[in-house]
Amino acid sequence: MPDTGSCLCGGIGVEVDGPLRAVINCHCRQCRKWTGHHVAATAARKQQVNLSDPENLLRWYRSSESAQRGFCSRCGSSLFWQRDGAETLTILAGIFDGPTGLETEAEIYVKDKGDYYTLRHPPLVQYEESGHNVSL
Ligand SMILES: [Zn+2]
Ligand SMILES: [Zn+2]
Repeated sequence: MPDTGSCLCGGIGVEVDGPLRAVINCHCRQCRKWTGHHVAATAARKQQVNLSDPENLLRWYRSSESAQRGFCSRCGSSLFWQRDGAETLTILAGIFDGPTGLETEAEIYVKDKGDYYTLRHPPLVQYEESGHNVSL
């Protein structure tokens, strides 16, 4: 069974027919601004991600020299993070409809986290910045 999800208005649908990576929380400044809190994201191989966007609502914002962020231009949902040239697409975990069976495994960019919340206890693996082999 593929994992299915959508943006808030339903205009953009996503179906992943393959494994999803464990969830990583990113507390960097960009992710905080983009979501209003922090990013919790999984990832999948791009080839196994089927997008449905019949109204051409998906827009990409280039947030850095090496990555861009996909969002719905109608409802504003934050959906994807894409590193240039990567074979994986990072997908925000909250957009999935059903149970994903996923667990959160790491916190990255904790040096940039907001001061108004605490990280979970017992703590997950934490990285000051992007961890070795750990990125969105
Ligand atoms: Zn939408
Ligand atoms: Zn981030």
